[in-house]
Amino acid sequence: EPEHADALTMFRVTAGRVPDGDAIRYFDGRLSYARLDELSDAFAVGLLDNGLRRGDRVALYLQNVPQFVIALLGTWKAGGIAVPVNPMSRGRELRPLLVDSGAVALVCLRGLYPEAAAVLPDTRVRVVLTTSEREHQSRDDPRAFGAGEPPGQAELEGTTDLSALLERYRGTRPPSVSVSPDDVAVLTYTSGTTGPPKGAMNTHRNLVFNAESYRRWCRLDTSDVVLGVAPLFHITGMVGHVATALLLGAPLVLLHRFEPSLALDVIREQRPTFTVGSITVFIALLNAPNADPAALASLRKIWSGGAPIPPSTVTAFGDHFGQYIHNIYGLTETTSPSHAVPPGVRAPVDPVSGALSVGLPIYNTVARVVGDGGRELPPGEIGEIVTTGPQVVPGYWNKPRETEAALPGGALHTGDVGYMDAQGWFYLVDRKKDQINAAGYKVWPREVEDVLYEHGAVREAAVVGVPDPYRGETVKAFVSLRPGHHAEPSELIAFCRERLAAYKYPRQVEILDELPKTATGKLLRRELRQRHGEA
Ligand code: ATP
Repeated sequence: EPEHADALTMFRVTAGRVPDGDAIRYFDGRLSYARLDELSDAFAVGLLDNGLRRGDRVALYLQNVPQFVIALLGTWKAGGIAVPVNPMSRGRELRPLLVDSGAVALVCLRGLYPEAAAVLPDTRVRVVLTTSEREHQSRDDPRAFGAGEPPGQAELEGTTDLSALLERYRGTRPPSVSVSPDDVAVLTYTSGTTGPPKGAMNTHRNLVFNAESYRRWCRLDTSDVVLGVAPLFHITGMVGHVATALLLGAPLVLLHRFEPSLALDVIREQRPTFTVGSITVFIALLNAPNADPAALASLRKIWSGGAPIPPSTVTAFGDHFGQYIHNIYGLTETTSPSHAVPPGVRAPVDPVSGALSVGLPIYNTVARVVGDGGRELPPGEIGEIVTTGPQVVPGYWNKPRETEAALPGGALHTGDVGYMDAQGWFYLVDRKKDQINAAGYKVWPREVEDVLYEHGAVREAAVVGVPDPYRGETVKAFVSLRPGHHAEPSELIAFCRERLAAYKYPRQVEILDELPKTATGKLLRRELRQRHGEA
């Protein structure tokens, strides 16, 4: 089958092929491909009438609502670049993204507008379109919405209502723009677990290639139904949910934000077949009060990426739901996957460390393990993973120095430490920056976390290095417990001590109700280190 040159053409071909098929299902609301085409046309004309010029950036400060997809496609149709923004960001986190990207337009949920309004005077944003979570959803389903009153009319002064704009331009079509495969489609800001956010320039080629990767590697076809559990502003949601559904012509099932018991209800109603998300999503489903073993019967194709998978979770999930969680690995800079475990294959487990393989490099992708001085290492040796392929971004927006550092000669230095086995399967040890140095002994947090996950009372675990007057750094674990379970820190320390070398077991364990996470569900070790410092 031919590959599409750009994501807009990819969508147009699909809309022409299945105009009446559902593009988006949002609770009881439905948008067909033809309707999505029409609405995104109106959006594009509206933007152009508001002075948007080719290459301009449009920020999408939205949860997982249908308007995200309408605005994304509309931005492309108007010749623009979309800048998805985490809807959990507060004004002070939003501002640097608006300033760095130089966005001229902002699409924003009404409830989030007060956050944006405070920082807008310092940015280039000229047009603000506001919208509601309830749009495209007719049944008054209280589960579907966050609490809190939307701001009143006076507070929305100076903004334009998105549905009014779509209504005004209904039936109009934007002049056709030519999109080249190397044009930037989205600027995806890295979530900043390791440093200040940078805008990765995901091109149309990057996006189309990895939508194809999901189709081929997860063996998806037109009969699949895609479930969105990752946030759409994150690259996994952008590619693994939106671009993949648009390529297939499949329905994308959205819920405005991930909440496990709500998600289980929606899965039962909509019977999705495929999803990709972070492991914390699957842990949450497993621990939900309505986690009936038959609940995921339709969801036969599950991939988990973005964070390490504790092997014991795959087993517990399989025992309970009867579904296997496949591993998938990538970065924002690889536009979602560079490696994946093919369907129906059980990922090999390292016989020594017990770690699950993150998979094989996907087609047309080359991954190497390099040591000091850039020397390529043989199988089994641990070094940094360096990846090249059609999904690797050309660089970061306005950041030539950071681009040169991370992508010398176009090869992405991932910052991930790992190795390849003799059969070509890749394993991650940890992230370079998270290594703990306890009196010269190097400890990878991952290994300690995997042991903690083997303890029956542990729901989530995150291990960090904290300052220690004697060792320089010492190992500390933050843990949350499974509902109805109890464990004392001393018991968890003893559990690890029995299973790990003396320099590795945590000297301190702190139990929290919830561990801090990014919106994609990644545990925030950085925040935990900070928390320790402040205590
Ligand atoms: P920042 O780059 O700002 O720190 P981030 O870590 O959230 O933010 P992402 O691009 O979302 O940025 O995450 C990519 C990282 O996630 C990888 O470098 C890797 O460390 C981790 N990761 C992704 N998939 C897996 C996986 N299957 N197993 C283990 N770790 C993974």
